[in-house]
Parts: sequence; structure tokens; C-alpha cells
Amino acid sequence: MPLKTPEEYIASLRELNTRVYMFGQKIDNWVDDPIIRPSINCVAMTYALAQKPEYEDLMTATSSLTGRKINRFTHLHQSTEDLVKKVKMLRLLGQKTASCFQRCVGMDAFNALYSTTFEIDEKYGTSYHENFKKFLTYVQDNDLVVDGAMTDPKGDRSKAPHEQKDPDMYVHVVERRQDGIVVCGAKAHQTGAVNSHWHVFMPTISMSEADKDWSLSFACPSDAEGLYMIYGRQASDTRKLEGSPIDCGNSLFGGQEALVVLDHVFIPNEYIFLNGEYEFTGILVERFAGYHRQSYGGCKVGVGDVIIGAAAIIAEQNGVNKAHHIKDKLIEMTHLNETLYSCGIACSCEGCPTKAGNYQIDLLLANVCKQNVTRFPYEIVRLAEDIAGGLMVTMPSQKDFTSNTVVGKNGETIGDICNKYFAGSDKFTTTDRQKILRFLENICLGSAAVGYRTESMHGAGSPQAQRIMIARQSNLEAKKEMAKKITGIK
Ligand code: SF4
Ligand code: FE
Repeated sequence: MPLKTPEEYIASLRELNTRVYMFGQKIDNWVDDPIIRPSINCVAMTYALAQKPEYEDLMTATSSLTGRKINRFTHLHQSTEDLVKKVKMLRLLGQKTASCFQRCVGMDAFNALYSTTFEIDEKYGTSYHENFKKFLTYVQDNDLVVDGAMTDPKGDRSKAPHEQKDPDMYVHVVERRQDGIVVCGAKAHQTGAVNSHWHVFMPTISMSEADKDWSLSFACPSDAEGLYMIYGRQASDTRKLEGSPIDCGNSLFGGQEALVVLDHVFIPNEYIFLNGEYEFTGILVERFAGYHRQSYGGCKVGVGDVIIGAAAIIAEQNGVNKAHHIKDKLIEMTHLNETLYSCGIACSCEGCPTKAGNYQIDLLLANVCKQNVTRFPYEIVRLAEDIAGGLMVTMPSQKDFTSNTVVGKNGETIGDICNKYFAGSDKFTTTDRQKILRFLENICLGSAAVGYRTESMHGAGSPQAQRIMIARQSNLEAKKEMAKKITGIK
């Protein structure tokens, strides 16, 4: 089957019986819902760019499983060059959408599961790797979006899964049958879950023997019996209902998170990739997190590019673009953004093959990448806010700017007054100034801040998770040896 067009992707979502709830109600036509649709447009961009000859090299790859042409979002990385191309692809997507385009979590899960299932089979003679290869071939051939579902709600964090008062705090087996398992639980803040055809579930922490029933990985379709999702709301999301696209800041694209609930869902044996081999849970988590920490060195950089561009435009619109301190702030934003990119590229170039043959990033550098991502985007938006000025958050609505209601003594309308007093440099229209200010508001404080700020903090693991990995990978003993040698300490 050839690569899907964006239209075919959207049509394929309509064919699913995905159960979505939002504002306390079931949303039947969720594909056309004004709050959800921008996030679908974002995923659709991963299909649209793959159709364009100029992006073919970045957006597509040759499947290592079938030799067929596939979307890179379903690819198993075969070299460090593939890892670098992944980062470049994500930067490109960030530039085109200024948002989280959601499809990377599946790609990162595929690559982590491919190597981990190989190693489990090697130890136990199980057939998880074959199961996974069959599943991934189906995903590649049908050009599907797959949610990589890792984060359990976790309940009381001081307790292991088996110690929780409510066992559903981590996804677990409630029944074992000849032909499969029945699972219960949930995954929280799942990026792109509603827009996915399938979900791949993975454990969220390293588990012990007592947590065997929680040590699970499997795939299941979005409309599986017993699976439903509750949509996460984002700051100022109801602006999308107002019919004023400028006030949305980015009315075309947006991110998406949802709570995915598994209420006694049956998983046939062929879709199980880990079932009780608890000592592999930590490896799987570490690999998935490592890939997703690399991802942020691409996607957030692409969004950063758009923010820097918008900050430069508002400086021109405000007539301050020649001021030295403004130029310096734009340089600082660029420096921070390119530092993130450097980390994304570096952890890719230093990648190495796994036992299964696909390539893994350098774990230390990927964790350094993500640790920087928990900080630099905050500084970038701080500088963007600084350059933009307070109007970013005090400007009247788009409806005021177009209002014909007369308020002035000489018959001026509300629109006339807004356009008069909010005009900047005469090289730009007031409408264009509104667009840039609202875009910056959205990315600094609105719905897009979910993807650019809070997701930079907590997505792919909160800062402390990276610090633990950095500590583990830092090889302090070797460094001590170096110091001893130089100083002559025995
Ligand atoms: Fe992809 Fe970035 Fe969104 Fe993760 S945060 S799904 S890497 S766009
Ligand atoms: Fe993310």
C-alpha cells in the first residue's frame, strides 16, 4: 500500500469507532470538532510532507523489514545517519506546525521495542520479537499513527505497582487466557492518542518480581472494546469555539493529550511484546525515554525557529528592531535554540547498533539534550515576551478590531479605535501585528505553551529522570582515574 495522503489519513480516522469524551460528553464527530481538529491537522502534516519530493529523503525511508518505501515515522533506524535524519525531520515538522505533531512517540516506541523484544526472546525463547515485527510490518504497510503509551497514573509515588491501594494505577493483567490476556488500567497525558490508529503500551518504571502482572507491553487498536479516552484540555482551548482565528494564535495546528482508559480490554497473544519478564521493563523504559529525549532536540527546535521569527517580526512591527538589546536577545534565543539542536544531532551521531540491529542514540547525550530542553525553551519564551511587550496579553479581541459598533463622537467604530491605537510601524497592518502578538501569547501562555513549555519540562520524563540517567552514564570512576593519573595519586 502506498503512503497515505493527509486526506486519506483523516478519512481513515473517521472509519474507526474511537470513543472520545470531552467536557463530560461523548464526542461523536470528533474528527471535525473545532478543539480537536488542529491537532489532527498537525499529524496530517507528517503525511503531507512525505508526499513532497523536496522532503522525500527526510520524510521517507526504506523499510528494513520489507524493503518497501515507508514514512520515516514508522522506520527502524538503521544507522547514525537515520538518527540524524530523524532529528532533522522533527525540526522541519516543528517549523511547519509550531506545535507538537504527536507521531514521534510511536516511532520511539517501535525502536525501543524492536531491540528489547529481541533481547527478551534471546533469554527466554519467547516470540515477542516476531510478534512485534509482524505488527510493525502492518503499521508500515498501512502507514498508521501509533500512540506510544508509557505514563501510568502512578497513584502514590512512594509505592510500587503491587503496593497501590488501587491496582489500576498501573496497567496490569486481570485475566490470563489461552489466547491472550485481559488488561485494566490507564495511561495519562497521552500525546496524540485520539489521533492514533493503534496504541503500543509499555511499562512506565522498572519493575520487580512482585510486579509481574504489571510488567506488560502490547499493542491494541484505538477502537478496541473497552478502550476509551478522555480529552485533556489546554489553556485557552475554548478560544477555538469563538470563530476568531486570530485570537487562537495558531488556529491551524495544535497538540493533543488524553487519558487512555483500558477497561477489561482483551489482548490476543500475537499483540503481546512483554508479559511478566519484569527485568526488561527498566531497559524498555530507558530506551524509549532515550529516543524521545533525542526527539526533543528536533521538534522543540523547529518550534523555537518560529518563535524567534515571530519575535523578530514583532520587533519590526514595534519599530525597535534596530535597538542593540533587541538584536542581542534574538542572538541569545538563537544560541539557546541551536544548542538544543546540537545536542539532538550529537546524541544521534554517537549512536550505536543494538543487538537486534537497529540503532540507538547515545543515552548520556540524549539525556543532556532533554535536560537542556527543560530549561532553554523557558528562556526563549521569556525573551520573546520581553521583546513583544505587554500588548501580547492586553490586546482586545479580534471581534473588537472588526466591530462596527459606533463609540466615537465623530462616528468612529470600536474597530476604528482599535486599529488606530494599536497601530505600530506603518510598514505593517494592525491585523498583522495582532496575528504575531496572539501567536506569541499562544506559545508563551496559551494552548501551544502546553507543547512548548510544560511538555519541554515533563514530556519524555521530568528533569530529575534525566539527572538520574546522567548520573548513571557519567562514568565518574573513569574521570577520577584521569585526575589521579595527571596529579600522580595512586
Ligand atoms: Fe513529537 Fe515533540 Fe510532540 Fe514528542 S513533543 S510527540 S517529539 S512533536
Ligand atoms: Fe512529547
